[in-house]
Amino acid sequence: MTGDGEESVGDAGFDEFLDALADGEGYYVECANGHGSLPPRRVCPECGSADLRETPLPESGEVATYTKVHVPAPSFADDAPYVTAVVDFGPVRLTGHVLAAVEDVEIGREVEPAVGETETRGDQLVVFEPR
Ligand SMILES: [Zn+2]
Repeated sequence: MTGDGEESVGDAGFDEFLDALADGEGYYVECANGHGSLPPRRVCPECGSADLRETPLPESGEVATYTKVHVPAPSFADDAPYVTAVVDFGPVRLTGHVLAAVEDVEIGREVEPAVGETETRGDQLVVFEPR
């Protein structure tokens, strides 16, 4: 128990995904039935298919929802306030921090995914840069 509420810590698949994204080679996995998933898994969460292919992540996506976080988890204490967003890439959605003030974020805003570090602990995380 770390008690910090971070789901992604220790998730090797997610770390690999972040490394690829940092190299400009972001991807998601798609099953034979066309279900996209992120972070990458061994089995499709929708239909249970283990026939998964890595597919390049689109270069940009659109903000689907966003939230300004004033009271963060301890692992993000020094990063607050910040904006988290769920970004729609078509078959998949990705959650991360938006590198912009909340006034500059809106639903449908086009953003590009990248990898950043939290100020609090230097943890890698997904970030979005407005285009
Ligand atoms: Zn599937």
